[in-house]
Amino acid sequence: MATNEFTDAIEKLEKAVNAAGIDRQVAASLEHPNKILQIEFPVKMDDGSTRYFTGFRVQHNNARGPYKGGIRYHPKVEMEEVTALALWMSLKTALLDLPFGGAKAGVVVDPKILSERELEGLTRSFTRAIFVDIGPQSDVPAPDLNTNSKIMAWIADEYSKLAGKSSPAVVTGKPIELGGSEGRAAATGKGGFFVLKKALEKMKLDGQLTVAVQGFGNVGAEIAQQLFEAGFKVVAISDSRGGIYLESGLDVEAVLECKKESGTLAGCYCVNSVCDIKNKGKFGGKEISNQEILELPIDILVPAALEDQITKDNSERIKARFILEMANGPTTAEADEALYKKGVVVIPDILANAAGVTVSYFEWYQNMHEEHWTAGEVEKKLKEKMEAVFEKVWDGSKKLETSLRNAAYALAVERIAQAQKL
Ligand code: NAD
Repeated sequence: MATNEFTDAIEKLEKAVNAAGIDRQVAASLEHPNKILQIEFPVKMDDGSTRYFTGFRVQHNNARGPYKGGIRYHPKVEMEEVTALALWMSLKTALLDLPFGGAKAGVVVDPKILSERELEGLTRSFTRAIFVDIGPQSDVPAPDLNTNSKIMAWIADEYSKLAGKSSPAVVTGKPIELGGSEGRAAATGKGGFFVLKKALEKMKLDGQLTVAVQGFGNVGAEIAQQLFEAGFKVVAISDSRGGIYLESGLDVEAVLECKKESGTLAGCYCVNSVCDIKNKGKFGGKEISNQEILELPIDILVPAALEDQITKDNSERIKARFILEMANGPTTAEADEALYKKGVVVIPDILANAAGVTVSYFEWYQNMHEEHWTAGEVEKKLKEKMEAVFEKVWDGSKKLETSLRNAAYALAVERIAQAQKL
């Protein structure tokens, strides 16, 4: 991850503000996060030793409501990166018109090498460290890269113990039995799909379009499944250890099953005899790196892993006509401009992956009002919201004669500016 992440995020913000003719002072206020916490916190390891870990919580802006944003666990987490992610959360919640601000947290850790007991200890210790700064009315974390509903349940439990009362609304993305919302786990992928469908409708594109998905976690696997079920030809999928490519199209269900069995896509290639025997008849395909996947001759590219994947170095080689940014910040500011000039339609992260925070808001609302909505209700509300916001962004881009990203940023910045004036 780049160390100039936040600078790059600001560059995108400034471009949007210029394109929309918004007062420069408004953007300037978003260049300064409200609060940056850096915490060194102890964790008792299985061998009896105590190790200290570094964590960050960046509370970017709360003009529109409590801070809202995920917690990621990753060995390369940096404060700049977390700050950029927090800024994007402020923009995303404003774009979706949710009564939240923006925040993000990151812990420098490779969770895959911790035991479950150590992971729980780390999560509870981090929760204690940020206890005074979070709360249902002040700052509401959620899952992100390498964190999940189980981790959210530990946070809610630890927070509730310290607060002396049950406080499920302190985090979203919880298991359903503990106050989670129906539809939260699949929300981000589904929302991206709703938005992509609308974009294709606007462009009057039909026929069987080809897709490549980089990242096969919560978000990547869900969007790949949605596209596969809807008849798109998913020709390539990758995860952190590499990918698989089959020109005639992959059976996404089978790939998912294989990944569950073997733990990684690397166990799912049919490139040698052992693999041929193991997966005979299921699917074939050839090995591909998670950089090569970006440059395939396809219609739609879906980055769903990390930031800074499409840069000035590879943007010229991108052949996709559409990029659906399911990851946060997969395209750098320079690459974004080059793609726009090439005529590539980029559906920006703050719109494409905003369904996660939207259903998080639904979850928080249900917790605060002691309600439980059905899966059907959640999906209906989500679809309506995503499609309506897409229409606004599309119209904005036509009116301003600019990219969808600039139009989305402009709408979000104007909403935050209005709240700041009040
Ligand atoms: P996850 O941890 O469930 O999955 C991440 C996936 O990316 C895994 O398959 C991993 O193997 C893969 N990956 C990691 N490094 C890679 C690399 N270098 N190349 C290719 N693949 C790589 O995380 P997630 O929740 O699916 O989040 C993915 C992205 O979506 C992140 O950018 C996150 O911020 C964003 N996002 C997530 C949500 C959500 O609801 N989970 C909401 C909005 C945005």
